[in-house]
Amino acid sequence: MPAPVLCQSCGAGRAALRRPKTGQALCRECFVAAFEAEVHGTIVAARLFQPGETVAVGASGGKDSTVLAHLLRLLNQRHGYGLRLLLLSVDEGIAGYRDDSLDAVRRNRGRLGLPLHVVSYRELYGWSMDRIARHVGPKNNCTFCGVFRRQALDRGAALLGADKIATGHNADDVAETVLMNFLRGDVGRLRRCAGILTGSEGALPRCKPLKHAYEKEIVLYAYFQGLDYFSTECVYAPNAYRGHARTLLKDLEAIRPSAVADLVHSGERLAVREDVRMPTQGTCQRCGYLSSQPLCKACVLLEGLNRGLPRLGIGKPSRMQKVLTDAEKPEVGFREDSQQASRAIRTVDF
Ligand code: SF4
Ligand code: ZN
Repeated sequence: MPAPVLCQSCGAGRAALRRPKTGQALCRECFVAAFEAEVHGTIVAARLFQPGETVAVGASGGKDSTVLAHLLRLLNQRHGYGLRLLLLSVDEGIAGYRDDSLDAVRRNRGRLGLPLHVVSYRELYGWSMDRIARHVGPKNNCTFCGVFRRQALDRGAALLGADKIATGHNADDVAETVLMNFLRGDVGRLRRCAGILTGSEGALPRCKPLKHAYEKEIVLYAYFQGLDYFSTECVYAPNAYRGHARTLLKDLEAIRPSAVADLVHSGERLAVREDVRMPTQGTCQRCGYLSSQPLCKACVLLEGLNRGLPRLGIGKPSRMQKVLTDAEKPEVGFREDSQQASRAIRTVDF
């Protein structure tokens, strides 16, 4: 029988895994300690938090945000960050997916002892994702969902008086986003998507403490710590463009294991020529949210939905912007139900 491989860190324990990130053979305890120390190192090196801040942790019930909430609570206590942490979830209204994953968040709220607040698309926009999908068809659901979620998190966090939002984006997510923005030629997003702390131009700052953590290691960490998370994929995910970037990245990783870290590095180092015009940030004429156009993307998409023309808001912004800003007729605007919905914005505390 071959001799057991010993942990390359402590030299005493039996190695339980080979780290996907470094190839190092480690025992369970040394892996957990190394993973926690690396996330702490990321937080300290990038100065992600200041003492006294209230941090809303975006909690979806999935592995990344579950590990993030667990780690932030642990590291906050261990290293005295001085943070007030709370969980913030977005209920997109996706039956069989988000309702189940929110159950996982609720279970974790008990385990972590952190307050949980939920904001829902139905309350914020008057539309659930399931209803949007029925109107829009199988494609472009994630366009609506992504735009609405971004704003929902911001609005929820602002209502709770949070100073910052922490999200569970990991290194694989960042690499995928770099690849996706590159393939789409979206220079504006490409320039900022690899940043660890974003949103300085008037938006609530967002940070990604797991930015350098590999997805595979997050799964291993969650497993070793016995964390309770929801792992089913969203029913609309198979039609998302991101899925193609993910497949491409997995193929690249099979040939070159450092592909994830390399792409993150490329995104960080990328410089955009000075003469490339970048969108200038203003605020949406309708809802006041940050926008580089007269109307923010969420208002445009919502208007398309309310007019029964959901495709109008997709693709080039100019078409719908023009319709809404130049030729605005008296009847153009939020429908009554959306107006009521936006007035009724509130969070649900559990
Ligand atoms: Fe929303 Fe698309 Fe994610 Fe589903 S996969 S939660 S529709 S962004
Ligand atoms: Zn708006």
